[in-house]
Amino acid sequence: MVFFIMIVVLLTFTALWNFDLQKLFRVKSVTQNSGDAAALMAARWQAISLNLAGDINLLQVIALSEGDTAALGAISNLQARLRFTGPMTAMLASQQAAKNNGLHVNPEYTAFLHEHAVRVREEYPTAVGADGEMLFPEPWPGAWQVYSRMIETVADDGVAAAPDNMRLYSDHDTGGHMLYDVGFYEAIAGRNWCWFHFNAPTLLEDYVNFFPAWWPPLPEPPRSDVSNSEFYGLRLDSTVRSMEGFGLTADEVAGRATERGLSGVVNETGMTTDVAWVVYDGSWGAWDAASTSGEYPFPFSGSVRDVYNYAGADAAVRVEATAGRLTPGGGGASISNTLTWTSAAKPFGSLEGEQLPTAYRLVLPAFSDVRLIPVDTSSAPAAGGFNLAWREHIEQHLPGYMEDGPFSTPSSCWYCRQLRRWEEVGFRQTGADWLRLNSDQCRPTGGGGGGGSGGSRRGH
Ligand SMILES: [Zn+2]
Repeated sequence: MVFFIMIVVLLTFTALWNFDLQKLFRVKSVTQNSGDAAALMAARWQAISLNLAGDINLLQVIALSEGDTAALGAISNLQARLRFTGPMTAMLASQQAAKNNGLHVNPEYTAFLHEHAVRVREEYPTAVGADGEMLFPEPWPGAWQVYSRMIETVADDGVAAAPDNMRLYSDHDTGGHMLYDVGFYEAIAGRNWCWFHFNAPTLLEDYVNFFPAWWPPLPEPPRSDVSNSEFYGLRLDSTVRSMEGFGLTADEVAGRATERGLSGVVNETGMTTDVAWVVYDGSWGAWDAASTSGEYPFPFSGSVRDVYNYAGADAAVRVEATAGRLTPGGGGASISNTLTWTSAAKPFGSLEGEQLPTAYRLVLPAFSDVRLIPVDTSSAPAAGGFNLAWREHIEQHLPGYMEDGPFSTPSSCWYCRQLRRWEEVGFRQTGADWLRLNSDQCRPTGGGGGGGSGGSRRGH
């Protein structure tokens, strides 16, 4: 009888465990598929928007040539707006792609976006910096109202796939201060002493405990460009000059216009008048994050082809799903696992003759494809732009930490807990001792104990 009961109990647990495992696999595949689909969809709309910006440039030559002032007014209006409507359409479409692949709305993501819409509407139009200048000058009159409504529209439908390369205008520069560097926290959590060896060789020995705070004061957030959307921004700029100034001839421009199905003449006036054109901004240089040479080479098996070797607009996505377990945990508590998946995609294309799309700096219709890219080669910051816990830590906990020390901050915050551990003299001593003997074993692609997220970020 006892034997029989034992067998039954064992079998029950095996069945429950097996069910949980299957469920976890299924949820994992849902997060991967929907994350990838959302990233591809967002990049697709970035490509469409970039091509539209190119079309607008071509239309402007034609309008100039034909002396159509009404069209010219409409075009200059569109130039500024497209940088918001294009990316926000990408954001909306990527939600749909994630949902179509079985992902549910994430209430935290949705709440964050709702709050941000309110902030854009109420704070952006009036915020003034320390120098008395407007912090967020409107790209066109009434822009923040329109932008806020677009954000609200996305939030009203529910957010499933968060834009992980989101860069809010008020965001801190992640390189500006050690406490803004997520690698620092991960190095503490994982006892990754090699991280210190490469990034802050003397910090373990130099640091002095509170009070007062040993750290330099937290820097003010830098003033950022507000002419591109905070979500899936196209990274465009505008410049005033003549079309000729970009090194294109009238025939070439006319040819491109015909290719895009835009009819009209291109003449001397169109080519030589100085007006504002949509151009690529400085971030569209070489794709350094994907470079296979240099100090931190990306572990691609071959180098990126010249024609695709540009950075610029891309889309990184973060999705989460929770799988509840049937197998009871300690004390009969129910357990659930949260799975996070990040994924990135990028618009690709070239001008004829395998020229880079950025060859003339002027935006021309050139994007014909989108591909998934490794998240580490995307413009998403190391901690993730939509990592809400990290955001809360930076914005709300760090100022208190600097004032009142490591034990004034909430222990519910993972990052604050790392700062408490950092405060232990013995902990830092262990690291310094280890490095004194073993620093020659450190390799830039990981080494040591690995980061909090499981080893090196390179190659993900
Ligand atoms: Zn914190």
